[in-house]
Amino acid sequence: MKENKTYKFKSEVKQLLNLMINSLYSNKEIFMRELISNASDAIDKLRFKIISEPKIYKNNNENKIRISVNKDNKTLIIKDNGIGMSYDEVIENLGTIAKSGTKSFIESLTSNKDNNNQLIGKFGVGFYSSFIVSKKVQVKTRSAKLKKEEGVCWESKGEGEYSIKKIIKEDIGTEIILSIKKENIEFLDTWKIQSIIHKYSDHISIPVELQILDEKNKDLYWKQINQATALWTKEKSNISEKEYQEFYKYISKDSNAPIYWTHNKVEGNQEYINLLYIPSKAPWDIWNRENKHGLKLYVKRVYIMDDAEQFLPNYLRFIKGLIDSDDLPLNISREILQDSSLINKLKKSLTNRSLKMLETLSIKDKKKYETFWKEFGLVLKEGIAEDLNNKDKIAKLIRFASIKNKSNIQNLSLDDYINNMIKNQEKIYFITADSYNSAINSPHLEFFKKESIDVLLLSDKIDEWMMSYLTEYKGKKFQSVSKKDESLKKILDIKENKKTEKVNFKMSKFLENAKKILGDKVKDVSFTDRLIKVPSIVITDNDQISTQMAKLFASAGQKVPEIKYIFQINPNHFLIKEIIEINNEENLSEWINLLLEQALFIEKGTLNDPNKFINRTNKLMEILFNKNNNKIIL
Ligand code: ADP
Ligand code: MG
Repeated sequence: MKENKTYKFKSEVKQLLNLMINSLYSNKEIFMRELISNASDAIDKLRFKIISEPKIYKNNNENKIRISVNKDNKTLIIKDNGIGMSYDEVIENLGTIAKSGTKSFIESLTSNKDNNNQLIGKFGVGFYSSFIVSKKVQVKTRSAKLKKEEGVCWESKGEGEYSIKKIIKEDIGTEIILSIKKENIEFLDTWKIQSIIHKYSDHISIPVELQILDEKNKDLYWKQINQATALWTKEKSNISEKEYQEFYKYISKDSNAPIYWTHNKVEGNQEYINLLYIPSKAPWDIWNRENKHGLKLYVKRVYIMDDAEQFLPNYLRFIKGLIDSDDLPLNISREILQDSSLINKLKKSLTNRSLKMLETLSIKDKKKYETFWKEFGLVLKEGIAEDLNNKDKIAKLIRFASIKNKSNIQNLSLDDYINNMIKNQEKIYFITADSYNSAINSPHLEFFKKESIDVLLLSDKIDEWMMSYLTEYKGKKFQSVSKKDESLKKILDIKENKKTEKVNFKMSKFLENAKKILGDKVKDVSFTDRLIKVPSIVITDNDQISTQMAKLFASAGQKVPEIKYIFQINPNHFLIKEIIEINNEENLSEWINLLLEQALFIEKGTLNDPNKFINRTNKLMEILFNKNNNKIIL
């Protein structure tokens, strides 16, 4: 028999309560948003249950949320006739934070005070916000599937414990009774309450009524405060920006306004309404694979579920919003959602709408698009590999840093790149590196800088992988500048006087020697025109994996076959001009090996054997010292 009992809160709840009460004092009224939103969720859940399990769930009353005050007791009461809770559910829902990631949430809450408001509510901490203004909170509730004797009363002062007892409750649903703290009695004022309800619940489709005292007749009456029409069913022209924004905040539990949205009523083969938003900030857990995402699903205006991730591909997981379908059955379950051709069709068209929305934003408001790109660009990039059908559309949306951009801001589109290609340029050139700095300073770019050919600078972790899927855009092939490339020759040949200095006998002899010395350490040795400041470089053959890809594999713990590089030498470099003259075989061998090690160092950012490299460098310096009578010539 379950009776009156006192329990301790789970420790994370205690910690959370403390943090919340202390960090949210500046925005106390949000408790109202949280409680109204819980009441509305509870009513939505019951509506859905009545459809899916009509034998168990019934409700004969009109759905509504009612708010009243009792000035004598200094209480504020929020009452709904939703699904309610059983004894065990009360313990589960109000005594613990039944969500994963609580620890990291609490950490982010303490370290980032500005974001605290936004975080509240996202993690199932919404209810506890009632303690911001209350010295005591009572919850009287009855599950919609249980008898009136199965009512439950939960009570807590928010100080580490709560008590719970069985009560008789005549009606189903939940009643939250807040004993308002002395310093917060403003929340007992009906004008004040009315304005808060307006702010937070106009877009809620369930009526919210406030009990008002008629001063003249001393009568109490109920007044509906919100409009209570599902916002998305209204005509676009009748919805204000502000309403769209508030609705976003309500469904996403994000306190920042969205960047952009699209609202469509689709008729024809499939009938549905969608309202899709682009948030202005990435949630802290966007990279957590278990992060819940997806759209709110409604069927014929009836709420079905949150986080229906089947309607959008993974790479669009940052999009928030809802779909209201006229074609899906009301008793749809997550299992049915998994494989239904109708869902696939909806997914396809919602994907198109989302991509279209992003394209429109990119044209209409470059600044906002830049914000979007900064927050979600990395996620969108996954689409190149994930959604081959839409690859071109996604590629159009990607933004890059480039040589000509002169900053690490990624804001160059492929269309702009193509428009700025120089005469005879056939390919889109790019480089992948660990960071923007190592990309922009790479010797692979020397030639391109000199010839004013722009190169895309890719330094996000995902880039190498993405580029293995992105091989062509609008008929132009992508070309890594660290790989062998015959097409460059064309540009070189056409530009006059740019040909390699005629390879003379000495030089070809040198090349032969270098090949002999290096043996199978390299795939080939050749001269190149592409270098200016550095004496040598390595590139990979087109059929080989790139250095960056090899690094990726290695960091994932995979075995990578050793890359055989093509070793390229800059015949115009002063060092090479000197080295060509060396006759001593041993010295020559040291120099050539040093040049290769330098080139590998530049390419990989690390050396296989740094000791060897240092010893070799010192040995050669010693020889130079001796040769120059102990004077260093710089
Ligand atoms: P969230 O709403 O994000 O789940 P809350 O802290 O606001 O987190 O609420 C915790 C849980 O308590 C809810 O998920 C719900 O199961 C339950 N709950 C809260 N308020 C109500 C209510 N009015 N009716 C029924 N259940 C409720
Ligand atoms: Mg809530």
